[in-house]
Amino acid sequence: MLKQEKLQLVAKKSYTHNHEEENRVLQARYVSLYKGKPVIRIAGLGGRSFSLYGLFISPELEPGDRKAIDTVKHEYGHAVQLEQLGIIRYLRHIALPSMSSTVQGASYYEQPWEITADLLGGVDRGHSDAALNAGKDYLASAKRKSTDIFGTDVSGSTGT
Ligand SMILES: [Zn+2]
Repeated sequence: MLKQEKLQLVAKKSYTHNHEEENRVLQARYVSLYKGKPVIRIAGLGGRSFSLYGLFISPELEPGDRKAIDTVKHEYGHAVQLEQLGIIRYLRHIALPSMSSTVQGASYYEQPWEITADLLGGVDRGHSDAALNAGKDYLASAKRKSTDIFGTDVSGSTGT
């Protein structure tokens, strides 16, 4: 075995060991619970996952895999955002921009509505302080915004 392969195996093993809770979720075939939130395996989203009260994660995600573990934590972070914002603000300021985003790769998680999901879920992707602060500001300003049931920003008309 090559030295690099050995190192990768060691890395994978310790990641598995330190993330027992996430791996339990990833071992479940259909439904499980993660920090009090239901986790449902759902196919047909092109491998994507999302959060709406519960965590909906792709069946392709496997235990022990760093990306899969980070996905569970990230989606939990979105569930916390929903609790903080309420459903209307969450849909308007988090879910909608997330669904319509065409950004791919590592910079996907740098977007202001994504970065606090990493932060609240405990995912360490090595975000810069500037990006983290931009995300925190975005969440804070979303909390202050008033929207009607269609998600239209009506903050200006309320005089508050
Ligand atoms: Zn996300």
